[in-house]
Amino acid sequence: MKRLFVAAILVAAALEPLNAQTSARANDITNLEAQRVEPFKVFDNLYFVGVKYVSAWIVKTDAGLILIDTLYEPFGDLLIENIKALGFDPKDIKYVIGTHAHYDHTGNALTLQDKYGARVAMSEEDWQFLPKSKPPHPRRDLVLKNGDTLTLGNVTMRFSVMPSHTPGVVAIEFPVFERGQPYKALVQPPIEKDGKPESLASIARLEKMEGIQVSVWVHPIMDRQFWERVDKLKKRQPGEPNPFIAPEAFQTRIDFLKKPAP
Ligand SMILES: [Zn+2]
Repeated sequence: MKRLFVAAILVAAALEPLNAQTSARANDITNLEAQRVEPFKVFDNLYFVGVKYVSAWIVKTDAGLILIDTLYEPFGDLLIENIKALGFDPKDIKYVIGTHAHYDHTGNALTLQDKYGARVAMSEEDWQFLPKSKPPHPRRDLVLKNGDTLTLGNVTMRFSVMPSHTPGVVAIEFPVFERGQPYKALVQPPIEKDGKPESLASIARLEKMEGIQVSVWVHPIMDRQFWERVDKLKKRQPGEPNPFIAPEAFQTRIDFLKKPAP
């Protein structure tokens, strides 16, 4: 557990600066009650089923579900509980996409393979990196290469491999829908501000992505306004815009990554 905690601090340090409140939350990363979040719908096909420290997202398609990241123990049961609370059947999860091979993102992937028959996808680089990460490790079902697409029903995802935080973090572009209208969403890859050539190259490639209207974060703390947006979403009146449609959040991320580390 100590190793996970250290890794968590490293991840947090690599992301946005934290205010005191988020920091207190992030430090308590194995406390079930402190971490529990009521699962919620963000778009017609996108649902948050994660905890305060780390995200897990359900993408609903007309041919089944895709789960992006899996949480870790002790949150395996909570993940399933959250998925069921939204009215979904975990057996409908066709694919689990691991954004990267760190325990907090893929720690429950093996259970999802064994109990629910989901197929796990990660980049080749991170399948190779996985043994260095805390077990249990999922079995290699699908390998994602830079530029690959994956289609399930009415949703096609496009993957870009962005080495930095791990050798094969994937950024995921896919459409989210609200009242039938599509918006361009991106699962934002964690990128280190370490000045290394691979990190700088990943930032440059991220910056070239155009028209990103919705940022989907693998850790809520990557967007300082995340919980504010959630509150606004819950209080939203008919006709008010979805607070997660925020092209400026993508630009804020680029600006943060390009600003020299203090
Ligand atoms: Zn990580």
